[in-house]
Amino acid sequence: MYEILKEKNLKLTDQRKIVFDLIKRFENNATASNIVSACANEVDYSTVYRIINMFLEKGIVEKKLNYADEIIYAFKEEHGHYFTCVKCHNKEKLMECPLDSVDQHLEQQKGYKIISHTVEVHGICKKCLDK
Ligand SMILES: [Zn+2]
Ligand SMILES: [Zn+2]
Repeated sequence: MYEILKEKNLKLTDQRKIVFDLIKRFENNATASNIVSACANEVDYSTVYRIINMFLEKGIVEKKLNYADEIIYAFKEEHGHYFTCVKCHNKEKLMECPLDSVDQHLEQQKGYKIISHTVEVHGICKKCLDK
């Protein structure tokens, strides 16, 4: 699970592992202060911030808002949309993002700043239909 660090040419140090694990473990509660207090005995806070910023710069994590409107750090997912079969629960990645032009239109015509969008397609896959 640390492959992403190697992919981004980051050496796997104990401190980076600790911060990485905490972001994973806290999920929706992965705020900077939670991460800092959870590893206070092992990593000092300025190092935690440095590691988080490095993860941000490398595109490993991104800032998000959780349900309580707190800024959290979450692992960045590759942008993509999926078809999910309601019968066998298979997920299949759709070929390309159908919304890029919509985002562009909103930014250029309306002057909005688009941050993200999600599309989920649900249905019954060919295999299940043929059964
Ligand atoms: Zn299916
Ligand atoms: Zn998209």
